[in-house]
Amino acid sequence: MLTVRRVEDLGRSMRRVALGGPDLDGFAALGPTDHAKIFFPAQVGGAVVLPEVRDGAWVNRDDAALTWRDYTVRTYEPASGEVVFDLAVHAHGPGGRWAARAQPGERLAVLGPGTSKLPPLDLAWYVLAADEAGLPALLNWLDRLPGGARVQAFVEVDGPGCEVPVPARDGLALTWVHRGEVSTGDAAIARDPNLLRDAVASASFGGADDGAGWVWGAGEAAAMRALRRYLVAERGLPRASVDVTGYWRAGVAHFDHKSPEA
Ligand SMILES: Cc1cc2nc3c(=O)[nH]c(=O)nc-3n(C[C@H](O)[C@H](O)[C@H](O)COP(=O)(O)OP(=O)(O)OC[C@H]3O[C@@H](n4cnc5c(N)ncnc54)[C@H](O)[C@@H]3O)c2cc1C
Repeated sequence: MLTVRRVEDLGRSMRRVALGGPDLDGFAALGPTDHAKIFFPAQVGGAVVLPEVRDGAWVNRDDAALTWRDYTVRTYEPASGEVVFDLAVHAHGPGGRWAARAQPGERLAVLGPGTSKLPPLDLAWYVLAADEAGLPALLNWLDRLPGGARVQAFVEVDGPGCEVPVPARDGLALTWVHRGEVSTGDAAIARDPNLLRDAVASASFGGADDGAGWVWGAGEAAAMRALRRYLVAERGLPRASVDVTGYWRAGVAHFDHKSPEA
């Protein structure tokens, strides 16, 4: 159980939340995509129903009163005893709504990370693609990749007001991809699933002399499916060096990123 220490706006559609408390003892997150489950109040202002863990196993996972979603660990500093998450703000689910009104002093439960995934960080080139949900992991990639790596990064957001600060680094070419304002209905459903794919198509994926590379993507599931198909079927990249995952799906609450639709 952790307490919100700070909340910071990162552009119009993301908020950075720093959590702290004695329960962080022993916490670790080593890989860029390591994630934890955040337990939210089901209703705004309500109490958080807690996961029950016995002998290291989560025993009440099927309890319908639990409201949890996956979030990438953005940073963890054992010295300051703080873990930081960047949350997309939207009106369609408990996570997005909680993020919109998060305040210091609020209490949240966090479970995980269950495992740590360490992708290769020593290749010559990387192409990274994400929307808001994948952006914290993309920023982690940028933090962790060594200085010599050539990185082309593509980030899809609503518009210029939703861009977030990204530290400059040698060899980084960053492209913001704007959806344009979607003013009515369910903005998540109105998105064009090919926008990010079309932007990534401008990337150079390394020639014969460029050494090995890696393509990583995370975001809305239909957009990720279009991207994966393009990379493998059209660009002919080896499947083993393409890691593209649907982190959420338009119109689906609590989408399972391990399902075949991801
Ligand atoms: C491994 C992993 C790591 C993730 N890391 C992050 C992270 O660091 N930060 C982050 O913000 N998200 C992250 N996500 C995505 C996040 O878990 C989902 O977006 C989740 O659905 C949000 O829960 P919710 O309660 O807001 O919406 P839900 O209740 O799950 O869904 C309700 C509705 O909200 C809509 N919706 C869901 N997510 C979004 C969105 N991002 N934008 C617009 N509409 C949406 C859907 O259309 C759905 O119909 C991650 C997901 C995975 C699998």
